[in-house]
Amino acid sequence: MTTTTTDTPHDLHELRRSAPTLPLAGRAKDLVGSMIDSSTSLLAAQSHDIVRFAMGSPADEAVPADEFRQIAGEILDHTSFTYGATEGEPRLLQLLVDYLATTPDPSSLDRLVITTGGMQGLDLACKLFVDPGDLVIVESPTYTNGSATALSYGAQLLEVPTDEDGMQVDTLEDLVAHTHQTPKAIYTIPTFQNPSGVTLSEERRRELLHLAHKWGAVIIDDDPYGLLRFAGEDLPTFQTLSPQDPLIFSVRTFSKILAPGWRVGWVDADASLRQLLINGKQAMDTCTNVPNQHIVAEYIARGGLEDHLAGIRKLYRERKEAMQASIARHLGDRVETTDPDGGFFLWVTLRDEFAEIDTRELFEVALADGVAFIPGPALSPGGRFRNAMRLCFASSTPERIEEGIKRLSGSLEKMAHT
Ligand code: PMP
Repeated sequence: MTTTTTDTPHDLHELRRSAPTLPLAGRAKDLVGSMIDSSTSLLAAQSHDIVRFAMGSPADEAVPADEFRQIAGEILDHTSFTYGATEGEPRLLQLLVDYLATTPDPSSLDRLVITTGGMQGLDLACKLFVDPGDLVIVESPTYTNGSATALSYGAQLLEVPTDEDGMQVDTLEDLVAHTHQTPKAIYTIPTFQNPSGVTLSEERRRELLHLAHKWGAVIIDDDPYGLLRFAGEDLPTFQTLSPQDPLIFSVRTFSKILAPGWRVGWVDADASLRQLLINGKQAMDTCTNVPNQHIVAEYIARGGLEDHLAGIRKLYRERKEAMQASIARHLGDRVETTDPDGGFFLWVTLRDEFAEIDTRELFEVALADGVAFIPGPALSPGGRFRNAMRLCFASSTPERIEEGIKRLSGSLEKMAHT
C-alpha cells in the first residue's frame, strides 16, 4: 500500500495553515447573537447579588413545581423514551384542541404542530416563508430573537415604529414603498409586546390584516403573553378577526404560562401547511422532547390550568404595580414608562437629566451596582433606542423590585453626574 504525502500529519498542518478559513455558508454571517440570551450566562457568572430585570422568565412562584415533580414521577414510570411523532404527542395535541375550544380561537388537529418552544415556531415560519433578500416587517423595538430568526434565513428587515397602540400600521405603506419590495412576512407580537408591553389596537389589527392580504404576506402572530392579561378587556386576535385565514401563522408557547424549561410550544397554522411544517421540523429535531410533552399534557388533563392562570395574572398585576410605584418613588418623571395590561415587561425611556445616557453603558454600571436589565439597542435590529431599556417585572418580588429600582436610580444618578 502506498501513502501519499498529504496523508502525513506534517502536510496536514501545512494545509491548515495555507487554507485557514472554513467553508462557511453565506448565511453564517447573518447569525446574530442575542443579548437577551447572553445575559443569562453573564449573570450566572457574577458572584454578587443582582436584582434580575433582564430575562423574561416567569416568577419562581408562578411555576407549579410541586405538581410538576409529582406528575414527572408518575409519567416517567410509563412514558416512552423513544422518538415521538414529529407533529407532537397525540395526547397533548388532543388536550390542546380541547383547551383551545374553550377560548375565542378554537383549533383542530389538522392545524396544530407541537414545537420546541415558541422559538421553533418562529423558525418554522421563516423556513416556510422567507427566502434570502425577502422583506420582513418587524416592530421597533422587537423581540430580537425573533428578528434574528428571520435574519438567519436572509431576510431584509424593515423596522416599523410602535406607540402605545402597538405597531404604527398607518406608516407601513409609506415605509414599504421606500424599499421597492413587497413584504413577504409581518412579524408581530400583538399582545403585551416583548419588549414594550404595548398591545396592538383592534383597528390596527384589522388594518394589518388588510395590508397582509394586499401584499400576500404572512402574519407571523407571536403571542406568548396573551393569556396573561391582568387588566382591561381581551382584544380579538387575528384568527378571531379572520378565521381560517391561511395568511395567519400563529406561534404559541407554554413557556410563559407554565415553565420555559419544558421547551413545549405549538404552531396553529393553515391545514395546507401541516405536512410542510412536519417535514421542516423533521429536518431540525425530528420530535419534541417526549417526556416533557407528557408532563405538560398531564398537567392540563388534571384541570388546573385556568386556576393557575388566574393566580399568576394576579401575581403579575401586583408586580407590575410594584414596579411602577418604585419607579415613581425613585425616578419620578425623569423616565417615561409604558403601562401594560398584562405580560412581563415595562419599557422605560430616559428623559431630562438622564436623556443622554446610553443604556449599554448604564448596563455595565448597573450590573456592578447589582441590577440587570436589557438595554434598548439590543431590542432593535438597527440598534435604536439608545436611551431606553426593557425591565421584566414578572420574576422579582415587590421587595426585590423596590431594591432593584433603588439601585438602578443610584446608577443613573452616578452616570448623570459624571
Ligand atoms: N416570542 C416572544 C415574543 C417571546 O417573548 C419569547 C420568549 N422570551 C419567545 C417567542 C420564545 O418562546 P420560547 O421560550 O417558548 O421558545
